[in-house]
Amino acid sequence: METVLNPLVQALEEGDTLKLKSILENTHPQALLEVWDELKGEHRYVLLTLLPKEKAAELFSHLPPEAQAEYLKTLPPWRVREILEELSLDDLADAFQAVEEEDPALAQRLKAALDPETRAEVEELTQYEEDEAGGLMTPEYIALKSSMTVEEVLRFLRRAAPDAETIYYLYVVDEEGRLIGVLSLRDLIVADPRTRVKEIMNPEVIFVRTDTDQEEVARLMADYDFTVLPVVDEEGRLVGIVTIDDVVDVLEEEATEDIHKLAAVDVPDLVYSQ
Ligand code: ATP
Ligand code: MG
Repeated sequence: METVLNPLVQALEEGDTLKLKSILENTHPQALLEVWDELKGEHRYVLLTLLPKEKAAELFSHLPPEAQAEYLKTLPPWRVREILEELSLDDLADAFQAVEEEDPALAQRLKAALDPETRAEVEELTQYEEDEAGGLMTPEYIALKSSMTVEEVLRFLRRAAPDAETIYYLYVVDEEGRLIGVLSLRDLIVADPRTRVKEIMNPEVIFVRTDTDQEEVARLMADYDFTVLPVVDEEGRLVGIVTIDDVVDVLEEEATEDIHKLAAVDVPDLVYSQ
């Protein structure tokens, strides 16, 4: 496969910032991740500094924890701020866990710079086990009241959508915040504007709890074909959503672990004999 490596390295070596910026604007962060290990340390640093901030955050969220901690320590403060702002809350909580292990003082300083609401949410998220739904979820979901009309929801969505992790599924909660229904964006759009949410929502919600094992989350998503699952606490209150991208990462990690385990097993010679 043709990679971005050659033109990228050339632009980096030549210090051709204009060319570099144009490459970076047209390259998906994943394409950069694929050549990441082949780049010099100083070049990686330049890329993380020059990338458009959304892409920088996306790339950053896929780096190993030690690398995340290192970059948060060494990147220019404005860039650190942009990356932290762009990360979704689940990725932000993961990044803080990484920094806390490597450099607790830096973690404190970065945390102090967050706005109070984000800080509280990050602190909340870091309390969950990493391999359970709580450790994968993000609180950036959209919750509706069942008495809202479709028209009201659409108006509400215009305000809420930019900060939500996904808007394809909308969850319905009661006065106590307990999860009582779900509807898709499609359900909403095809409904008459005067219909109330309770009339079109599906009350049979498939959900997980904060302490549901990540493998179980993955299994449910695969079996039910859902790209998002809601997460509730012990009282049944909606506290987050897990999205398919995080679950795919989990499956990848587990597959890699399994392959390593297999590789460690002594395979009898006869397996290879013809
Ligand atoms: P279709 O698959 O028929 O094209 P769609 O694209 O509108 O429908 P999907 O994303 O497939 O929507 O979701 C179908 C239905 O699944 C939605 O109407 C929604 O009510 C329901 N749904 C979504 N998430 C859940 C969930 N966690 N538990 C139960 N039902 C859910
Ligand atoms: Mg569908």
